[in-house]
Amino acid sequence: MPQVIPAAGGVGLRLRHGERLRIIDPQGGQSGDLVAFSQDGRQRLSNGRTFDYGGTLYLSKGDSLWSDRSERMLTIVADDVGRHDFLYAPCSLEMYRIQYGVTDYHPNCHDNLCAELRKLRIEPDPLPTAFNFFMNVDIGADGKLAFAPPRSRAGDSFVVRAEMDLAVALSSCPASTCNGGAPPRPLAFEILRE
Ligand SMILES: [Zn+2]
Repeated sequence: MPQVIPAAGGVGLRLRHGERLRIIDPQGGQSGDLVAFSQDGRQRLSNGRTFDYGGTLYLSKGDSLWSDRSERMLTIVADDVGRHDFLYAPCSLEMYRIQYGVTDYHPNCHDNLCAELRKLRIEPDPLPTAFNFFMNVDIGADGKLAFAPPRSRAGDSFVVRAEMDLAVALSSCPASTCNGGAPPRPLAFEILRE
């Protein structure tokens, strides 16, 4: 049975080598963040290494996510959506202040991911760039970046297989700019062990 990632909240989990993780968008149009560390905390997800070995900004079925020590961490084995971002840093308190002038506390993926990783006894600082699943970023020929609403429809999911033992944190992104202007909604996940 899928478990809930609360709207604007996070969850942490451990994956054994070979287990698969399905991430589901129950309502559609909601993006989220995924960060992975090796179980001992010595390797972290690397978008740069992933671009080195995959040669594409748009990762989907068959593509792997690599660590900063050049080992495969996760491979996408199914993908209903086919559009995710791996460029943007997780939204943070500072980002909401600098970009949107928010002065009070604002829920953010950086804090969600760090808190969940600490519960797994992983020191998250410095937090790597997250795999921003369902986040839809268009890259213009001039290099300009533009947000578009996520392409995920209600019930869409993607599945990653763990290529090593991992600590994983997930966050339902509260940034409305990444979610077609809508308020944050919950996501869901399930670990497939067979
Ligand atoms: Zn976010």
